[in-house]
Amino acid sequence: MGRSRGRRIAEPLHDGRNEHQRDRDRIVHSTAFRRLVYKTQVFINHEGDLFRTRLTHSLEVAQLARAMARRLALNEDLVEAIALAHDLGHTPFGHAGQDALHECMRAHGGFEHNLQSLRVVDALEQCHARFDGLNLSFETREGILKHCSRSHAERLERDEPGGVALRFLQGTQPSLEAQLVNLADEMAYNAHDIDDGVRSGLLGTEQLLQLPLYRRFHDQALAAHPALAQGSPRRALSDAIARMRAAQADDLVAATAAQLQALAPADAEGVRRAPPLVAFSTPMRQASTELKRFLFGALYRHAQVRQSTERARQVVADLFAAYVQNPQEMPAEHAESAAKPQRERAVADYIAGMTDRFALREHQRLTGLTLFA
Ligand code: MG
Repeated sequence: MGRSRGRRIAEPLHDGRNEHQRDRDRIVHSTAFRRLVYKTQVFINHEGDLFRTRLTHSLEVAQLARAMARRLALNEDLVEAIALAHDLGHTPFGHAGQDALHECMRAHGGFEHNLQSLRVVDALEQCHARFDGLNLSFETREGILKHCSRSHAERLERDEPGGVALRFLQGTQPSLEAQLVNLADEMAYNAHDIDDGVRSGLLGTEQLLQLPLYRRFHDQALAAHPALAQGSPRRALSDAIARMRAAQADDLVAATAAQLQALAPADAEGVRRAPPLVAFSTPMRQASTELKRFLFGALYRHAQVRQSTERARQVVADLFAAYVQNPQEMPAEHAESAAKPQRERAVADYIAGMTDRFALREHQRLTGLTLFA
């Protein structure tokens, strides 16, 4: 990768860190980053101490993405910064919270978590003397904005011509580093959701063995270590998942290296105009899609998960209604933003920043209801 396209507010480099190392450090020191520890991935935060949270998920994505970036000679620092920031805009209660907030915001521009992650680093973090947000480099911001609807892309493009939203209007790709983090995200949650699913008791080993991708690595694990068949099933599961992750990384690195060699983009702009270059091979892409479909049906739509996501939706919807009606229930700085024309956006920002447990406490305070014992 060549030189950075820089920051919206120019800052001299003076302490030996490069642009993307500085981005990463700002992300790690942000308030939004600390909150990820108490935000749900699939299981609500209080359901168990060993399930993934948004924080451990983000660390797993960063680890996977950095390891692959090194093998592909991509910019590891940029990859790490994007990975650590990619979920900063997530609401409490995972996808249930995001869907509920989007529903509440339907008439007010909607709620998109990737856009919210960008909003956190561009505007909502309040820890620097000279600017709102973290003033990150273009490349990190581009990677954070993974998806964006056309209407929001048009608005962003008006505010920042030729900026991070332009690619959604032109149908071009982001940097190789952004493409890599996107796939590392998918690899991380496919692997850890199997693990968390089994840990929760909602997924059974028999069910998993019907999935060809998992079966292959489970059989390999047992062939390499026959004692696993008698030992703790957790050890066999962890070994099979580790093999699956490694095989996906090998596949992605090989397929991507081949694409880069075949298409040989001349520079960063060549990458943006090319088709997606970071990719799995076709068989691995199909296997990964099948795994996602399996997890969707067997885990995310499991009756027990649905029951907690239904309650989570209600928490978010009730909080939204309560704050819109009475913004004074929010802390002063949020109540102040709510006095501006976009009251609903200020409320959505406040709710999106909450951890699971804080949202539950607020819900109890404002409604007197206890939805999660
Ligand atoms: Mg993620």
